[in-house]
Order: sequence, then C-alpha cells, then structure tokens
Amino acid sequence: MHPFTQNMRRCKIIGTIGPASRSEKVLIQLVEAGLDICRLNFSHGSHEDHLENIRVIRKVAKMTGKNLSILQDLQGPKIRCGSLMNGGQIELVTNNAYTLTYGDEQTSLSEIPIDYKDLVGDVQLGQRVMMDDGLLIMVIEEITGDRVVVRVQEGGVLKSRKGVNFPDSILSLPILSKKDTKDLVFGINNHVDIIALSFVQTPEDVTSCQKVVSALGADTPVIAKIEKMSAVENIDDIAEVADGIMIARGDLGVEGRIEKVPTFQRKIIASSLKKSKPVIIATQMLESMTSSPRASFAERSDIANGVLEGADCLMLSAEVATGDFPVESVATMDATIREVEKWIESRSESNFLPYPVDRDLAESSVLDRDGIALAACESAEEVAAKVIVCVSLTGSIARAISRWRPKVPVVTLCPRVEVMRRLQLSWGVYGIQNPIFYNTDSLIQSLPELLKGLGLVETGDRIVMTAGIPINHLRSTNMVKINTIL
Ligand code: PGA
Ligand code: MN
Repeated sequence: MHPFTQNMRRCKIIGTIGPASRSEKVLIQLVEAGLDICRLNFSHGSHEDHLENIRVIRKVAKMTGKNLSILQDLQGPKIRCGSLMNGGQIELVTNNAYTLTYGDEQTSLSEIPIDYKDLVGDVQLGQRVMMDDGLLIMVIEEITGDRVVVRVQEGGVLKSRKGVNFPDSILSLPILSKKDTKDLVFGINNHVDIIALSFVQTPEDVTSCQKVVSALGADTPVIAKIEKMSAVENIDDIAEVADGIMIARGDLGVEGRIEKVPTFQRKIIASSLKKSKPVIIATQMLESMTSSPRASFAERSDIANGVLEGADCLMLSAEVATGDFPVESVATMDATIREVEKWIESRSESNFLPYPVDRDLAESSVLDRDGIALAACESAEEVAAKVIVCVSLTGSIARAISRWRPKVPVVTLCPRVEVMRRLQLSWGVYGIQNPIFYNTDSLIQSLPELLKGLGLVETGDRIVMTAGIPINHLRSTNMVKINTIL
C-alpha cells in the first residue's frame, strides 16, 4: 500500500515535543508511529530551544515525506505565586486565614504573594482560590483596600511559583501577556502552522489574538483552549470565531468540577462540530505511559471514546514531551484509534459519528460552502465514490466537508504549503500541495494519475470533486462533480 493511503487514519495525533522527543532520531520514530502534529509548549523552554525544535521538525518532515505541522501553544494568563519563605515552601494550615498580596517575594508567613495586580477588583466574597493544580483550596472571606483574605478549606504544602486558579471569578487579565506577545511574534517569524491560546474566557479573547496575528501579516489559525468555566459557558460564541478548539482537560478539571469534565467534553465537541471547527481532546490520555510501556484499559477506552465522540485530534503531553515511552505512546494511540475506526467503517451508517449528524443547515448562517459540502458527502455516499477531492485555496471547504464525517477520505489540493499543514488538524482531511490549481484543464487531466499514484483509486472508480470554477478566477467553491477514473 502507498504510504499516503496507509496513513489515512481519520482522527489525528498531536504530540508535545520536549526533552524526551526533540532529537532527530526520536522524532523520526514518532512520525513512523503516526504523529501528525508537533506541539511546542511555550510554558516551557527558551526561544533557542524552540528554534532548534522547529528546525529538527522541518528536517524530519522533509526526510520522511510526512506532512508534519507545528502547533505553538501560548502560556496565556496563568497566575502564579511568588517565591516563598522557609526555603521556598510553606504549610497552608486548614481553617487558617491568609492574605493574598501583589508581589514576587513573601515577606510574612500569613501572606501569599501572587503576580496578579488587579485581584481586588475581580474577585468576590465566597469565591474559591486554588493552588498547585487544585490541591489546595481556599475561600475568599474578606476584601479590604488592596487585600484579599482567604480561609483555607483544604490545606497542605505550597511551593514557590505554583499555579493559582480563581475558578469562580471572571478575571480582567489581558489574554496575551507580554511574554505571550513576544512568543507569538517568535512563532509567526518562524512560521508555526497553528497557534493555541490558553485560558480563553470570551470570543473577544480569540478575536484579539487573531487581530495581532493578522497585524503581523499572517493568517495562522488560532485555537481556543477551553480550560475556564467562562469558556465552557461561552462555547458556542467561541467556536464561532475560533479556528479550532482544544479541550484542555487538565486546567478545566481544576477550574470546573472534575466530575463534569467528561460531559463538558461532549458539549464542547458538539459546539465545535456544529461550527465546522476542528476539536482536540487534550491531557492525560495515556498518563500512565509516562512511566510504563503499557496503557491501562481505562486510557484505551478514553481514546476510543474520544474517537467515537467525534474529536478531530487527540493530544499527548507529558507522555511524549518528558515520558519514558514517547514512541510507544504514539503507537498505542495510533493502534487504538485505528481499531475504533475500522469498527465504525464496518457499520452500515453513512458517516463516522455514532449519533445522527445535525443536518439542519437552515439554523446556522448558511453559506454556499456548507450546502456544497453536504452535497459532496451525499454524492460520495450515493455513487460509492472512493475519495472526495477538494481543490481549495484556503482549505475551508475541506473543513466544511469534514464536519459531516464522511466515510471516504477528503483529499485537498491546495497551492499553499501552510494550508496543507494546517489541514492536519481536520478529521479525515489530507492536504497535498499542488501548484497547478490555476489551470482547470491540466488539473482535471492530471488528477486521475495523481490519485492513482497515491494508491487512492483505480480505473473504474468514482470520485467526487469540489472546486470554485473557473479555477483561474480564484472563486470560492461553487461546484460538485462526479468523475469516473479512466
Ligand atoms: P496545558 O494545557 O498543558 O498548557 O496546561 C492543557 C490542559 O490544561 O489540559
Ligand atoms: Mn492548561
């Protein structure tokens, strides 16, 4: 089988590149195991580290012929406590009161410095404060002047520079910190393919980042990480404007109630699918594999359920970045996804989703594109086409087709390599960079050979094709065509 066809897993795999995976040797193995997108986590590492990561990733992509893309994950407005007395760790005693102050250094054992200036204006009595991934829980008891007094509900040891969460408050921190803006400029200058934005609260957070990206002269897609309750509440409006969604289950479990994360996951996937935006499930998918070569049944089920729920991508973090078995983790995820997809494909239903797809286009802002996308999927089903081929400048038609989760692959010919790479995010979509988009005749003539060469079709097979014609007039997609390969 041709490698292109062999690699057609519908749900894509994202892996975080870190000390365990940044060498050329391991990256090649990760690609061979099925890695589709490399995530660079800008909460860690210097610009020099990331520059080297980008260089090696691009090199490995070239060596392996793999369409490998790079996702830059911005830290966002993460709040931390300052450096603490007693050599950097203090005991927070249950039922005792402490004062939160703005600063870097602890000066009294009854005060906790945090790096958040406008705290007093943003919080209310009775709201919770959590520290160290939700292990320490406090409640706000008094707000006077510039002081916020909290009483500890669940105490323990607090160490310097640990994260601080305000799960019940709407924070006025800007979505892009000074560090994020610097990192974003770095990312754009070094041509990352996708940007992810942490701790989004509102649709405006997303649009303000998109504005910075376009002011820098780029059109890199911006993914909203859903890890605050306010983002879960605003999910439909956020999915409308964002270029993709990530279910950041780690922080979401701290900010929201951890028991609710599985149902949030379903709700967030449904909103994303409705808006034709790719959706990623992130965090602890194979947590035990950071130190064990074998996944638990529960983890395999989590992966399988993510696929069944309709995720576009599944993500690995520590498993690939710092774990002992990065390659085995990707291979396990790959094998588990493939097994589920084989089962779904064997059913008689026309699409990959376990529930009926919402066909009510009338209720959303109907674009010609959505109608064409649905027509392409239905035609493909009707004539038993082997593949849907899109000729597209921006890739948006491919995302619209992907939304219906058709049974056949969606191969997208696009002139820009950036578009080809960002399409890695979309379920069942495979980009091919093709420079001859501007000449309809030569494109249509050469298409059968191209598809045969990739092992996608044989003589006699049917394909469904979408394009904007006349192609050399750079039209949006306005045509669906059924062709028989001669
Ligand atoms: P992080 O985001 O790894 O950047 O924290 C993912 C999550 O919160 O789950
Ligand atoms: Mn997070």
